[in-house]
Amino acid sequence: MRIGLGFDIHRLQPGRPFILGGVTFAHPRGPVGHSDGDVLLHALVDALLGAAALGDIGDHFPDTDPRWKGAAGKVFVDQALLLLDAKGLKPLQVDATVFLELPKLGKRKPELAAELAKILGIPEERANVKAKTMEGLGAIGTGDAIAAQVLVTLEERRLSGSTTR
Ligand code: MG
Repeated sequence: MRIGLGFDIHRLQPGRPFILGGVTFAHPRGPVGHSDGDVLLHALVDALLGAAALGDIGDHFPDTDPRWKGAAGKVFVDQALLLLDAKGLKPLQVDATVFLELPKLGKRKPELAAELAKILGIPEERANVKAKTMEGLGAIGTGDAIAAQVLVTLEERRLSGSTTR
């Protein structure tokens, strides 16, 4: 089994769509970034790459590359999963924490967890999303930023022989 940890943070500015975990929320502010600024999926990519010892999101999808301008986070996750697959690795479980003041994720946390499960191709019972405010402290506390931390576990497929789980 392999374990990977990922983190991401983006500034929030008025007039940008608020996209988190591939899901759009109604909110007057949204993340600023070269891509769509989806902290949850970006942290997930770093967790996946980390578990596979494949570097980080900036190594594979540099923000200087026009191909990734405005790219959806799912594009990066799908690419990372292809790299993992080539190494015989596949996701087992994901656990995430989103740090934000607003919007309140509340009842939509299960929806985000289900989205992560779908993207990773794992059962929903192995995906979890939590939310934390920063109690008004710092850039996240004032609503000027959003961050996410993601932990994933991977299993190694047996590449030789006929038995795979
Ligand atoms: Mg990012």
